[in-house]
Amino acid sequence: MRKWSRGAAVVGTAIAVAVLALAPMDADARERRDGAKERRLCRSNLMRVGEFVYGVARSLGPDESRKEGWLLARLMETRDEEILSRLQCRADPLADARDASLGFRTKLSYAVRDLESHRLAATASKPQILVVCPHHDDGAFVMTDDFDIRFMTRAELGAPATGPLEIGAKATHPALASVRFETQLDDETERKIQRRRVVTNCAKRLRQLGGIFSAESMYTPGPPPYSGPALFVHYRQKHHIQMSREEVLMCPLDTIVHIPKTAADSRKYDELDLTKSLRKYISFAVRDFDRSPLRLTAREAQSVAACVVHPDGANVLYDDGAVVFRSRKSLGLGPGDKITVGPDSKSTILRPLTFGPPKKD
Ligand SMILES: [Zn+2]
Ligand SMILES: [Zn+2]
Repeated sequence: MRKWSRGAAVVGTAIAVAVLALAPMDADARERRDGAKERRLCRSNLMRVGEFVYGVARSLGPDESRKEGWLLARLMETRDEEILSRLQCRADPLADARDASLGFRTKLSYAVRDLESHRLAATASKPQILVVCPHHDDGAFVMTDDFDIRFMTRAELGAPATGPLEIGAKATHPALASVRFETQLDDETERKIQRRRVVTNCAKRLRQLGGIFSAESMYTPGPPPYSGPALFVHYRQKHHIQMSREEVLMCPLDTIVHIPKTAADSRKYDELDLTKSLRKYISFAVRDFDRSPLRLTAREAQSVAACVVHPDGANVLYDDGAVVFRSRKSLGLGPGDKITVGPDSKSTILRPLTFGPPKKD
């Protein structure tokens, strides 16, 4: 019997070593990888769409109709699957081929030269802008008629550090002034988009935390070492979240937390007492694994964490790594109900979660 258990231990060690080889990627590396992929895709999309726009601009007759959606219509006419698969940037929060509520804006992510008011000159002393992708957090991709694609940072564009990059008439830089989207949106819709963007960014952070959670669960099976937000702050103390990258713990909409600005702010996380309230340091409610352990045989995905600072719903991280924005209704809440977590929450999805501190009795 003893011999057998030693054998099991050896097998166990072998598995542990194999798992070690797949060492969990930290949130930072994951974000860099996803961001780099997003940019690579955008760049090649832009080249393809830019080539098309260039061809159209060169062949455009003087009376050519350029009503809303004309470029998209032309693109659709090509029936060229290759180009049709390149009309959306992954960083564009509105890109959704199935959503027709925002006109052409959901189908084509890129802002294209306004060929009506900014004709493409046959001879120009400077490269002329063809297509722009303004959806990336830190700047915009700009393609010019010499088929060069450049990433311009927010600083280079004279744009504020956050918020959407303005294009067209309100643009902060000439590179963004000569382009427009196929559909011009009104201010109310722009505000809606801005809200959606915040939800997307919040979801991205929860997804990164979910990645660490999954890797850690694989690495050390059994119940997690902490319940509630302490678990995620513990990831920072263990450097699964790197120093100065604490914003992954925060929702961009949350006004309670303070984003660490200096190395000293960041170091504070190493000294946090995980038995105390951590609400100032993390936006998210996390599952109380003592009160509501994850059931191994559950048929449905179980909630692991959530952001409840949004007025119209909550971003929920599930144990399969998915992050879903749940409206009040799909949370089981009425329009007047507060979005809360814990045993008293009206929502069965949010009930297992807590803002801590972990209760040990
Ligand atoms: Zn893009
Ligand atoms: Zn949020």
